[in-house]
Amino acid sequence: MDGPTCRICFGEEQPGDKNLALISPCHCEGSQKFIHVACLRKWQRTVQLGGSNHPDERDTEDRHCVCNVCKGTFDVPPQDRAEMMSDLAGVTPGRVAPAMLLVSKRCSESSASGIDNLAIRAFIEAKAAHFRRAVYMLTEISPGASDGSDVVLGVNLCRTLEAPNVEGLHCEDVTGDMLQQLRQEGVDVLWMNGGPVKPRHVCAVTVLRTQRAVSALSTSSGCRALIRGDDDGQVVYGTLASVLTLAQEESDALSETVTVLAWAGYAQWSRTQLLGEMARGSWGWCDGTLEDIKESASGTGHGLWEHLRHHSERLSWAPSNELSRDFEQRFPPQRQAEDAQGEVVTALVQQFETMRRDSATDRASWRRPRSGCGQQ
Ligand SMILES: [Zn+2]
Ligand SMILES: [Zn+2]
Repeated sequence: MDGPTCRICFGEEQPGDKNLALISPCHCEGSQKFIHVACLRKWQRTVQLGGSNHPDERDTEDRHCVCNVCKGTFDVPPQDRAEMMSDLAGVTPGRVAPAMLLVSKRCSESSASGIDNLAIRAFIEAKAAHFRRAVYMLTEISPGASDGSDVVLGVNLCRTLEAPNVEGLHCEDVTGDMLQQLRQEGVDVLWMNGGPVKPRHVCAVTVLRTQRAVSALSTSSGCRALIRGDDDGQVVYGTLASVLTLAQEESDALSETVTVLAWAGYAQWSRTQLLGEMARGSWGWCDGTLEDIKESASGTGHGLWEHLRHHSERLSWAPSNELSRDFEQRFPPQRQAEDAQGEVVTALVQQFETMRRDSATDRASWRRPRSGCGQQ
């Protein structure tokens, strides 16, 4: 070959493709001088992804910054983790926004089924259950530093909750008696298990279609529109008390029953962490619609998962990448095995979750911001 070639793949420069431009990022000369931008990036990622997740050890790893032949520092700095994850997932960080739906890829993963101790199994299951056949709707993003440490919150549209003890939950002045009264007046509350974080924290949504309720929204302080439908209907999100007030307006105006979805608990990620889970293929994603909320409010949440996961063209998935291939290799999909203890564990998980909701104080160990996907 006449022209310069890449020291990794021996390919030439491809004019017009900036990823396949040849650069010389260090002091190396001769056949080692050039490398494709994409090949250098790939090498840098391999080091970054292969490294430890522990920040201290990550700091001592420098093979993605320094050439191992000439020891010169690459003049193409490695991407930061947020940028890398969003590149691998094929989404811009800004795409992660309220009203986005995340749909879990797998329906049954439990690395715990081989564990004999039922209490330990139930403990692991209690976390995994939040991310199995799950559809999370993102509700809030609070900006963090530019390094992708923003806090992303979401609630599961698929797990109903049997009559929680409302007095034990954090929902302002809403009481069980009040909810019973509202039911007679045409406002029904469907309780959902929102996710693994703060199981007594409550938030709610309802769908508004009437002008009267929508006008009430403009003066509501605890509520905002999350999804705007085509026909002027909208999904509003906020505190349970404020959503109930709007649902009451809606019910009065329509003279029919209005359903409010109320979640105890939520899931929480940093933006980078979530992009990482999307990049490795754990989540598909799409924009949430009014119809999705209505399906969830019909009380058949798992139907929503089934529909979006298997019978819909709406989902986007990360393209196959270093991270997703590695993940599939390390955690191959498991076939649902015969599980003699399955029912006992499910019952234990339910008891365990009820205990968490009703206990007087949140246990610090449960406040960890990581939510993961139940697969690590
Ligand atoms: Zn190359
Ligand atoms: Zn070099």
